[in-house]
Amino acid sequence: MSDKSWGYQPPHDRPKPDWDVDPQTDAVRAGLARSGFGETSEALYLTSGFTYSSAEEARDSFTDEVDHFLYSRFHNPTVAMFEKRLAAIEGAEFCVATSSGMSAMFASLACLVSAGDHVVASASMFSSCHVVITEFLPKWGVTYELVKGNDPQAWAKALSKPTKVVFIETPSNPLLDIVDIAMVSKLAHAVGATVIVDNIMASAILQKPLQLGADVVMYSATKHIDGQGRVLAGAILGSFSYIHEQLLPFVRQTGPSISAFNAWLLVKSLETMDMRVNRMSDNALAIAQYLQNRPEIKSVRYPGLPSHPDHALAMRQMKKGGSTIGIELAGTSKDAFKLMNALRIIDISNNLGDSKSLITHPASTTHRRLSPEVQAEMGITPSVVRVSVGLEHVDDLIKDLDQAFKS
Ligand SMILES: *Cc1c(COP(=O)(O)O)cnc(C)c1O
Repeated sequence: MSDKSWGYQPPHDRPKPDWDVDPQTDAVRAGLARSGFGETSEALYLTSGFTYSSAEEARDSFTDEVDHFLYSRFHNPTVAMFEKRLAAIEGAEFCVATSSGMSAMFASLACLVSAGDHVVASASMFSSCHVVITEFLPKWGVTYELVKGNDPQAWAKALSKPTKVVFIETPSNPLLDIVDIAMVSKLAHAVGATVIVDNIMASAILQKPLQLGADVVMYSATKHIDGQGRVLAGAILGSFSYIHEQLLPFVRQTGPSISAFNAWLLVKSLETMDMRVNRMSDNALAIAQYLQNRPEIKSVRYPGLPSHPDHALAMRQMKKGGSTIGIELAGTSKDAFKLMNALRIIDISNNLGDSKSLITHPASTTHRRLSPEVQAEMGITPSVVRVSVGLEHVDDLIKDLDQAFKS
């Protein structure tokens, strides 16, 4: 064996741009920390722990006197690259990555509440988020109220009481209800509440909740951030004080850590997220326009269509309508199943934000955990299907839907 060092030398830092770079440049470069080998791509540090040059250095690292990675439940170099890059794209002070969207949702909320606190949330929510707020938090003495997303008077009434956290999902999954982030944030701050936005459906490319007044943004990175159907992951973004005083003390001890391997995939995914989300959203608009003229359809829910009840608000707070379309068929669940089974390109799958177009029947899959009454309140009837539009050529997707309707 040769003892060549392959040019290994202590990592060097070239001068950084002295101007504000565009978020797309950040998407490719923010957070990049090269090792002494000078590798082009971000390195995968698949390690649970780190070593110290001396017992003194270990001691000082644990008291934060020395800047040193300690353990991958707390932080990891590859995870840190992903967190810094996503924070730069979002325009947030700080980001913490987690193992799934649900661990992000739970930790973002649980780190803030104690028994006796009150949480207000938008009524249309992903079913697991609904279960956390309406079933788990009450077991620990945290009360809640759900508000119809686009009813300003209902928000004003709910937020006239002391409230610890306001949790909103906009657009909502699966029927794309829109909540006015700026309006709700103002009301929430007046009663001292922290506003958390589940920004999964829009992504950081199309909607910036922190700029609209929210305090915290959370993601399932499983969706548009990975966007290629490979890994589960999540992320929480917010101010330095929220992250360091509230969130980190909670997640470091409870351990919803992301694996370095998954963070490595995601740091590369962020490089192409803008292109992917914009293309998916353009495809989705074309498909929504095609669908609204089909006789088999009762209604199309898509924030980018003027027929959406909150189209104007959606276009104020989002750059485009997003990748997901809610469809209510004129018919029953049998007709919904028949349509899904006749498709030749669009896959039957309950994920979303994927490069592959996917269709699901929320009442029997993603939202089946909710009671029929709660489903009805969210507008999830047996004839509703949700289409997550991917990156295939839009003409083929429309041809696929066309042949499925005709069969
Ligand atoms: C998927 C999803 C989640 C949960 O994310 P996981 O990565 O599956 O844990 C939460 N909220 C919304 C709106 C989602 O679509």
